[in-house]
Amino acid sequence: MIAVWFSCGAASAAAAKLTVEKYGTGNVRVVNNPVAEEDADNLRFLDDVQSWIGVEVEQAVNPAFPSASAREVWDKRKAMSFAKSGGAPCTGELKKKARQLWEAQNKPDWHVFGFTIDEKKRHENFVLTERENVLPVLINAGMTKRDCAVMVQDAGIVLPRVYEQGYPNANCLGCVKATSPTYWNHVRQINPDVFRDRAEQSRRLGVRLVRYKGQRIFLDELPPDAKGRPMKSLKFDCGIICEE
Ligand code: SF4
Repeated sequence: MIAVWFSCGAASAAAAKLTVEKYGTGNVRVVNNPVAEEDADNLRFLDDVQSWIGVEVEQAVNPAFPSASAREVWDKRKAMSFAKSGGAPCTGELKKKARQLWEAQNKPDWHVFGFTIDEKKRHENFVLTERENVLPVLINAGMTKRDCAVMVQDAGIVLPRVYEQGYPNANCLGCVKATSPTYWNHVRQINPDVFRDRAEQSRRLGVRLVRYKGQRIFLDELPPDAKGRPMKSLKFDCGIICEE
């Protein structure tokens, strides 16, 4: 049995399609770790993708957080991101633990993730440190993130609207792993309610989410016109890469 980890991004959608085409629907299960803070249109995309690939997308949820809410994880763990490692507790609870519990119950023989040819190194690190039974379907097909987006669009599927809104991936809105002033001011402009919410919670928990002029500062201290490097489009999905 092959488990394809689908993150509501273009790359893992393409990976699921290629895997089903190669190994057949009977051998493939497609699994998603939902996170409540993702944009609602991600669910529309999930529906479209499951019709396209002909396999129902299952959900793997950590029973300690049945609402799959990152906000709840942050409050419970009293942390939002770990500056030194670049990690985040939401990833650990809602992605990694949820995935490991699903694996323990369902015992897949192989895994497929949305690693593209431009992420070969990440795939190799993952195989070395996490799981050795990974089928690199996108890498073997020589596909980039952009190729994946084109493949999905050529099938008549509209990508999650967050891409159109200028976000670099289909992750949660206001992803706490981001430290860029460009990203956070983009959130402030497109989703002001999310910005306000992250600003309030991070101030309350004492977490300086954004890096500005070489220092970590609170979101409510970020000047609205502050800019860092431009965001890279289609850079990564919050799938397994969110776990790194
Ligand atoms: S996308 Fe960001 S906020 Fe959402 S679970 Fe991953 S690290 Fe946490």
